[in-house]
Amino acid sequence: MDFELTPEQIQVRDMVREWAQREVAPYIREWDAKGEYHPEIYRRMGELGLLGLPIPERYGGGGFDYVTLALVCEELEAVDTFLRVAISVHVGLNSLTLLQWGTEEQKQRWLVPQARGEKLATFALTEPGAGSDAGHIQTRAVKDGDSYILNGEKMWISLANTADHFLVFATLDPALGHRGLCAFMVERGTPGLTTGSIHGKLGVRAGDTGWISLQNVRVPA
Ligand SMILES: Cc1cc2nc3c(=O)[nH]c(=O)nc-3n(C[C@H](O)[C@H](O)[C@H](O)COP(=O)(O)OP(=O)(O)OC[C@H]3O[C@@H](n4cnc5c(N)ncnc54)[C@H](O)[C@@H]3O)c2cc1C
Repeated sequence: MDFELTPEQIQVRDMVREWAQREVAPYIREWDAKGEYHPEIYRRMGELGLLGLPIPERYGGGGFDYVTLALVCEELEAVDTFLRVAISVHVGLNSLTLLQWGTEEQKQRWLVPQARGEKLATFALTEPGAGSDAGHIQTRAVKDGDSYILNGEKMWISLANTADHFLVFATLDPALGHRGLCAFMVERGTPGLTTGSIHGKLGVRAGDTGWISLQNVRVPA
C-alpha cells in the first residue's frame, strides 16, 4: 500500500498552510487573549474552497478526498482550533450529512451554497441538559399539518451566532429516547429562532460558540 501523499494533496496542504500562517497566525495570540472573533475569516476560507473541500463538484464542492481534508484540518488546527472547528461543523457535521441523507431538493437548496462558501452551516444537537447523552434531548418537534413546530434550547453550538443554516435535532417523543430523534434544516431569519454567543470561555476563545433558542419555529415536513 502506498502511503505517500499525492502532488495534489501536497499542493492543497501547502496552500492552506501558507494562507493560515500569513493571514491568521500573526494575529491569533491577540484575538485569543481578547476573545476577539473575526467571522470574515470564513469568507476567505470559502474563497479558498475549504468550505466545500470533500463535496462533489456537481454540488459546488472541490471533490477532494478525505486525506486532503485531514491535511487541511491539521494545518488549520496548527494555527488555531477555531479555524478547524468551522470545517468540522460546516463540512463534516452539516454538509456531509446533507450529502449522505438529504433529498436532491435539499442538496440543491442548502448543500450547494454551503459547498460554494456562500452560506455557513452548523450542527445543533447539544442542550443545557444533554451532551453525550444525546438520546435525552428535550427539544420537541410536533407535527402540525404540513409542518413541524420546534421548541427548545441548544447550547455549546459552534458558529451559533454566525451560521446561516442550522441542522437542528429534536425529539418526536422524549419517551422514545434516541429512536425519537429527527433532524431539521432551519435557516437564520425563520421566525422564533434566536442565537447568541457564549463569552469568557477558557478555550476556542477566537471562535463563536453559542446558544440557539427555538420558540414555535415552523419548518416544512
Ligand atoms: C467548544 C465547543 C464546541 C461545541 N460545538 C458543538 C456543536 O457545534 N454542536 C453540538 O451539538 N455540540 C457542540 N458542543 C457540545 C459537545 O458536543 C458536548 O460538550 C459533548 O457532547 C459532551 O457533552 P457535555 O459537555 O454535556 O458533557 P457530559 O455529557 O455531561 O459529560 C461530562 C463528562 O462525563 C463523561 N461521561 C458522560 N457520560 C458518561 C458515561 N455514560 N460513562 C462514563 N463517563 C461519561 C464524559 O466523557 C465527560 O468527561 C461543543 C462543545 C464545546 C466545548
